[in-house]
Amino acid sequence: MLLIIFLGIFFYDTTIGRWAGVHLYYFAFFFATVNVFSWQIEKQALIFYLILPIVLFAYTVLANIPDYNNVPTDKNLSNAIYLFNFCMTLVILGINGFIIIKENITAQKKLSLSKLNLQSLIDNTRGYIWSINTNYKLIAFNTSFKDIIHSHYKTECYEGIDVRTFFLFPNNPKELLGIYERALKGESFTEEYFSNNNYFEVQASPLYNTEKKIRGATFHSRIISAKKIGEQNLQQSKINLETLINSIGNSTWSITEDYKIIAASKLYISDMKKIFDIEICAGFDISTLFSLPNYPIEWKEQYNTVLSGKNLFVDYTFEDEFFELNAVPIKNIHNEIAGAVFFSRNITYRKNIEFELNKSRIKAEEAALAKAQFLSNMSHELRTPLNGIIGITNILLSEKYLPAQTNNLEILKHTGDHMLVLINDILDFNKIDAGKVELENNPFNLIETVEKMKSFFSWEASSKGLHLEININKELNRQVKGDVTRLRQVLTNLLSNAIKFTETGSIVFEIQILEKLSDKECLIRFSITDSGIGIEKDKLDHIFESFGQADASIIRKYGGSGLGLTISKKLIQLMNSELNVESSVGIGSKFWFDLVVGCSLENSLLPVEKKLNEIGTLESVHILAVEDNATNMLVVCKMLEKWNAKVSRAKDGSEAVELVEKNNNFHLILMDLQMPVMDGFTATKHIREKNKIVPIIALTATTDEVLTNILTQKGMNDVVQKPFIPEQLFYKIKQVLAV
Ligand code: ADP
Repeated sequence: MLLIIFLGIFFYDTTIGRWAGVHLYYFAFFFATVNVFSWQIEKQALIFYLILPIVLFAYTVLANIPDYNNVPTDKNLSNAIYLFNFCMTLVILGINGFIIIKENITAQKKLSLSKLNLQSLIDNTRGYIWSINTNYKLIAFNTSFKDIIHSHYKTECYEGIDVRTFFLFPNNPKELLGIYERALKGESFTEEYFSNNNYFEVQASPLYNTEKKIRGATFHSRIISAKKIGEQNLQQSKINLETLINSIGNSTWSITEDYKIIAASKLYISDMKKIFDIEICAGFDISTLFSLPNYPIEWKEQYNTVLSGKNLFVDYTFEDEFFELNAVPIKNIHNEIAGAVFFSRNITYRKNIEFELNKSRIKAEEAALAKAQFLSNMSHELRTPLNGIIGITNILLSEKYLPAQTNNLEILKHTGDHMLVLINDILDFNKIDAGKVELENNPFNLIETVEKMKSFFSWEASSKGLHLEININKELNRQVKGDVTRLRQVLTNLLSNAIKFTETGSIVFEIQILEKLSDKECLIRFSITDSGIGIEKDKLDHIFESFGQADASIIRKYGGSGLGLTISKKLIQLMNSELNVESSVGIGSKFWFDLVVGCSLENSLLPVEKKLNEIGTLESVHILAVEDNATNMLVVCKMLEKWNAKVSRAKDGSEAVELVEKNNNFHLILMDLQMPVMDGFTATKHIREKNKIVPIIALTATTDEVLTNILTQKGMNDVVQKPFIPEQLFYKIKQVLAV
């Protein structure tokens, strides 16, 4: 630009020079404008483009003024143009200079701003960032780096410090020096190091200048202790798992979801070697065995089942041995199946024992069944003659005798009843043991029940020179609800024991109302106190155990089965109460229990069960009695005739069927069940084919409740157990005839 101005001055005095100068100035003007434009300061460039036509206009005007300052027009004009152009060039140069300076300032500002941004960026980046030049001098770093250097080495960190000075401190990780050297050699890498009780991970990379020459290196380091410890824990867990798996005596192994072995116990490894001749190790692909000819198909299925997410607990056999397999899927933290763990145990020994036990159990069950069957048969056999004794006694009792004779007959009857109780005890014990006893809940008169027992026990007591005192609350001469048979059974047992184990003194039997719980319920205490031999304190629990007696000498002296109290205790428990005992050796014993009984104390007295003589008659009722046992036939017929019934007899089932076929006018059939030629069931079946109406009552000596329950299904209307109570039979007959 200056050269152009110089040339303009040089050629000023020549015409050619002036014109050339003018045109050179134009060129300079144009050049300056383009120069400005090339810096992209568009506004200014635009101004000059606007100025250009104005300048050309001014030139044209001035060139046409004839006398300007008394200088030839041409010279004046060229002077003016020259001056104008000179000024314009200076202005443009000035503007150029201004723009350049302004640009520089802006660039400087931008640079420092971006430096600030960069610093704040690295300051805010997690971890420690620093860079060094090739002389190990620190050239940049973030605040975290500065802080950690300060806190670890208590030294200042500043630009230009040689990072190797940090190695003078004892706890500076020496491996960093190697990391610096590698990065300065141009290597980019990630490396771990340990420093000040922490694990670090550093990313190192070289720094290049514009000529692509290494001018330093940058480092970004982060604490990875948590991750590292996690990895170490994982590794430790793996070792623990392997140790655990190996310590278990079983065959144990775990696999990934793609069938690769994670860990396996020594037993599993040796088993697999034995079976398939393969060496199992971590990473071994189990699925490669699936295609082996001797690989059991169900094993493959087991793998698939567990890897589909199901737990597995199965027994299986392999080469005549029994195994128990327990397998569970392993899930990752995202709850996805990541593998499975298997525990297999050889249970051949246990299975054999189980097998033996099972055999013994079946044998024991068979024996128990045989025992139950035997007891049932025995009871039937015993009941049949007893039926005769009790039955005949009942018939005799229905006659009129002298009071002393009647008393003897009563005793005879109670002895028969007692024997029946004993037989029932054995059966009951069996039934209670099998949980087959169900209590009834029928109304009965308590005083009546006690009175009936009194005559028997008074006789028993007085025969031993004992006094039996019965205290019963008179208010209890009312209707109560419960199972009278079972209650009588318990009281009989307790009274028999009291008399049996007392040599002198008295027995007090008390029934008292403890509490009236409501209008309909009251709590009654039953107690039997004796002045007998008593029981030692440490034997008190033992006497309630099956066959438990206080002393072995007791059996010798007093006899007994040791079942009575066991049955009584269990029956009282079934009545939701407890049988209690208090006893002192040589002084006596007291047994008691409290029962909640349904009793309406406002109720009128329950009509006392009618005595045989007082009950109605069966006048004009024609009954067919089917019974093979002659005594029983005699008992039942005498009883029926006593009630004025007309009786026909059949000694077995087939005779009964014949009689019914011949004479279809029977009002009722009393059918024994176990008979020769044809039993009661078959006879009933045949009779029912022809006659669906005639009532049939089964008379049976069996106490098998299942059997009695199915009687109705076999075509019978009701059942009466032998030995029967005459009143009971009478009412049952009346009942079925009334329907
Ligand atoms: P059993 O009387 O047939 O031996 P129990 O079960 O009725 O069987 O009685 C078990 C044992 O309890 C008796 O053998 C006896 O030792 C003891 N015992 C029961 N009641 C009395 C009592 N009133 N006084 C003394 N000992 C008794």
